[in-house]
Amino acid sequence: MSFSYLDNNAGAGLADGVLDVMLPYLQQQQGNPSSGHRFGRYARAALDKARQQVAKLVNAEPSQVIFTSGGTEANNQVIAGVAERYDSGKVLVSAIEHPAMLEPARRLQKQGFELEMIPVNEQGLVEPATLAELIDADTRLVSVMWANNETGVIQDIAALAAVCHDKGVPLVTDAVQAAGKLPIDMKATGVDMLTLSAHKFGGPKGIGALIVSKQLDWPAFVLGGGQEDDKRSGTENVASIVGFGHAAEHVLTHLPEYQAHCRRLRDQFEQHLKQLPGITIFAEQVERLPNTTFFALQGFDSDTMLMSLDKQGFAVSSGSACGTGRQTPSHVLTAMGIPDPIALGAVRVSVSQQNTVEEIEQLGKVLEKEANRFTHLLNR
Ligand code: PLP
Repeated sequence: MSFSYLDNNAGAGLADGVLDVMLPYLQQQQGNPSSGHRFGRYARAALDKARQQVAKLVNAEPSQVIFTSGGTEANNQVIAGVAERYDSGKVLVSAIEHPAMLEPARRLQKQGFELEMIPVNEQGLVEPATLAELIDADTRLVSVMWANNETGVIQDIAALAAVCHDKGVPLVTDAVQAAGKLPIDMKATGVDMLTLSAHKFGGPKGIGALIVSKQLDWPAFVLGGGQEDDKRSGTENVASIVGFGHAAEHVLTHLPEYQAHCRRLRDQFEQHLKQLPGITIFAEQVERLPNTTFFALQGFDSDTMLMSLDKQGFAVSSGSACGTGRQTPSHVLTAMGIPDPIALGAVRVSVSQQNTVEEIEQLGKVLEKEANRFTHLLNR
């Protein structure tokens, strides 16, 4: 049986050439970038190049890039920085953030800070006027993700950054799902901090970055030998950073083809879905990532559907990988006001450049069979 991997928002494979550029740093180039000898200098040069490549992906300066162990750590550094910088105050976090932002924010709350959730509208968007009303003199930080991992909904980050700047509060955006799928411009949008994860767009797992605007001196999270300009200690994961840099350059070069291919598959898939009885496509009315469809079919819970599709050769997800196996509805859908019985059936299909029209056709047919089976049962 052939198998279709349609869970690219959870983890995409390595992009062309990434493994090749990493291998020398796992084999003969064993130098530590902090060493003064030539092996150290080779490793340092490799880090410098990757830093430029990653900075270019988001239109930032290389000196703004802090390499971390992934998106989760980068988000933790942002939130923990609030407690490091201030004795008290409030953070505003959108209700649809990934747990990698929500959980550190909840810990901050336990440490005595105020945590307020920014609501979203029924399409999953944070409205600038709503945000403006919530910011007050105690607000230390606002966090709104660039694109949501479950629905794919893209926020108007420039408008939200403008609201924050108007009030003199920094905005962090988790761009883990947006990078490699959309043009990201830190300078043009005025975002103050941005987090990335390599494995969502063709780099290896376990590497990411926090990118901080020059005006902001954000505190370190991991302390030690002072690497990454004292902002993230620990010997750098050279091979993975090199792979991250290469993946960043690769996606930037291929973004138009990627978007066109994924959008074609996504639109074709949604045309199929729309023929099915009892279908809901979440956030269909607003701009979404070109590769993501989040939907529910009446009569199916997510886990049953996932298992059935897995048996039939399709790897899809119920939303965030961390949330798989849950019996509670997605907090993202709940925040959008989706009733529990529908939200509990949510299934995410996220495609990549590697997926084909045929795979999507096949999945459409399988879902049609499932939907008809349910309607048949209902009508008996
Ligand atoms: N933020 C978002 C939006 C994500 O989708 C993910 C991963 O699913 C993360 C953060 C965590 O990134 P990492 O896996 O690099 O820790």
